[in-house]
Amino acid sequence: MSGRPLLNRRMNGLGTTIFAEMSALATSTGAINLGQGFPDTDGPESVREAAVRALRDGRGNQYPPGPGIPELRQAIADHQRRFYNLSLDPDTEVLVTAGATEAIAATMFALLEPGDEVIAFEPFYDSYAACIAMAGAKRVPLTLRAPSFRPDLDELRDKITPQTRLLLLNTPHNPTGMVLTAEEQSAIAALAIEHDLLVVTDEVYEHLTFGGATHVPIASLPGMRERTVSISSAGKTFSFTGWKVGWVMADGPLVSAVRTAKQYLTYVSAGPFQYAIAEALRLPDAYFDGFRSDLRRKRDLIGDGLRAAGFEVYEPEGTYFITTDITPFGEKDAYAFCRTLPERCGVVAIPNSVFYDDPDAGRTQVRFTFCKKDDVLHEAINRLRRLVA
Ligand code: PMP
Ligand code: GLN
Repeated sequence: MSGRPLLNRRMNGLGTTIFAEMSALATSTGAINLGQGFPDTDGPESVREAAVRALRDGRGNQYPPGPGIPELRQAIADHQRRFYNLSLDPDTEVLVTAGATEAIAATMFALLEPGDEVIAFEPFYDSYAACIAMAGAKRVPLTLRAPSFRPDLDELRDKITPQTRLLLLNTPHNPTGMVLTAEEQSAIAALAIEHDLLVVTDEVYEHLTFGGATHVPIASLPGMRERTVSISSAGKTFSFTGWKVGWVMADGPLVSAVRTAKQYLTYVSAGPFQYAIAEALRLPDAYFDGFRSDLRRKRDLIGDGLRAAGFEVYEPEGTYFITTDITPFGEKDAYAFCRTLPERCGVVAIPNSVFYDDPDAGRTQVRFTFCKKDDVLHEAINRLRRLVA
């Protein structure tokens, strides 16, 4: 064998995802896993039953249609009308993917050329960095800074160059829980229009907003429809992160471009789950409201507990993550802190520092998820109280 590295150089440094690393640490130590974001309670029984029915009735056991089954594409279009008054043609403007993860990959591979620049918030969801790199493009970070994590829109304007191809948004934002306001979205839209940029918006936490924060899809703003690719997923909204059903919504030509890439990634995603998610999207408002208010209560529970345990806490407006700062413990390195947290007190968390290029911006930030049963959250907080001692 030649001395040439096996791994393509575009993937240099991408290593193992922090989620896999920290979940493995939770498994090997038996610690409470408040790292990777997955609920410890599955989604609605009726939706699980719908998947079983589809499987038993032989619906979706063989390759479903490439763009997704018509029932799900129609349900996605109806969901967009119901919640945001957006109209989509389910045949040409909706594409079902293997989770939002594949939607992000297919979108980046379809829309980027080597050398293009993509402006994305940091801390960033890790697959953005990987997919932009695999497309040969360059990620330009727009740093969200504690305590508010609001984007600096003047800084955004300054980062736009002739090479900028697209703005990659994520709202509600993982890991900070920041939710873009209507005014921020309007200002971002104005910049996109002025500079003729595409916008890709990852809205997987669209239904997980608290208090006054509400999710506004940027695609609903004037002039944005033709330049926006919106991405969402069933994983978070319905607590089925293992089903990997996601989708892309955009004007026909954009969906067609993304579909071209998607065909050669997975071709299709799992059939029976698509039938079940088509039903889930039609659940009554009570489901969405109940899920949101339950999570809000859990946010407050963990927020109070973390504060009492000595963390500085940045209250999230959305998602099921809460970001903290570990400086009050005299700690200076979130990654080192998270590596030793299981042995120190039996809890796993995620160091936000790995989601920043700027080594100083997130060095002392640690993220906990709160999509867990109340007794698990209480026990985790009791354990974290040991840190003070
Ligand atoms: N985007 C963000 C911001 C996420 O947090 C996640 C995590 N699950 C994904 C995309 C991926 O979603 P999926 O599981 O549907 O692939
Ligand atoms: N989105 C989840 C999180 O942020 C993890 C998904 C993954 O493991 N890739 O925790």
